[in-house]
Amino acid sequence: MNDLELKSILANRLELVQERIAQSCTRATRKTDEITLVAVTKTVSCRVVRVMHELGISHFGENRPQELWKKAADLPAAQWHLIGHLQRNKIDKTIPLIHLMHSVDSERLLFALHEYGLKHHTPLPVLIEVNCSREEAKGGFSIPTIQELADQFKTFNGIRIEGLMTMAAYHDDPQHSRSTFVELRSLRDQFRTQTGLALPHLSMGMSNDFEVAIEEGATFVRIGTTLFEGLEDE
Ligand SMILES: *Cc1c(COP(=O)(O)O)cnc(C)c1O
Repeated sequence: MNDLELKSILANRLELVQERIAQSCTRATRKTDEITLVAVTKTVSCRVVRVMHELGISHFGENRPQELWKKAADLPAAQWHLIGHLQRNKIDKTIPLIHLMHSVDSERLLFALHEYGLKHHTPLPVLIEVNCSREEAKGGFSIPTIQELADQFKTFNGIRIEGLMTMAAYHDDPQHSRSTFVELRSLRDQFRTQTGLALPHLSMGMSNDFEVAIEEGATFVRIGTTLFEGLEDE
């Protein structure tokens, strides 16, 4: 496929997604500028990312650090989001490349990022990943664990905790994700009161359920398949 064909496919898909985001905002009486679309590029090449960037998208998400290194080197002008597990031995190489870390999923990683921030005098913005769906295969803190840790949020001054992230269990009917998203939002509200932190962000909603997530307060939606399906070989 040549660049023009690729660009026209991506432009159409992007327009549809942005329309759906706008309609969800209307239903929820929210403003579209409260929502940041993070295009999840884990299945596509640097070339596809560059075309998406030319279309005006500047936030991109990757779930594997090595893949993020490669793509961020190719397109350093974009804002890169890590949305998957980060091993502590990859912190030094990954953190300087990213705009926001969505997936702080263990106490060990939380401490390590805090120490990194202290050492480099640049508090890294992070979200805490919570396993609201309670699926064993999913990452993130269990709700009781993070509730216990919340009292200490303010003491982690090497990082800036800006909110929470979750993944709902996959289901054909997106309404099934609603209870997960409501739970993440109430947890955030509870932590606001408990810690005094602003916690402005909720990263929730993917291709199959981003509209429901926006209705329930998402500020970041992470969308891959709907934008990039079928473009894996481009
Ligand atoms: C892959 C991925 C997404 C995007 O999922 P799609 O269903 O392809 O939109 C979102 N969040 C995380 C953490 C992912 O790994």
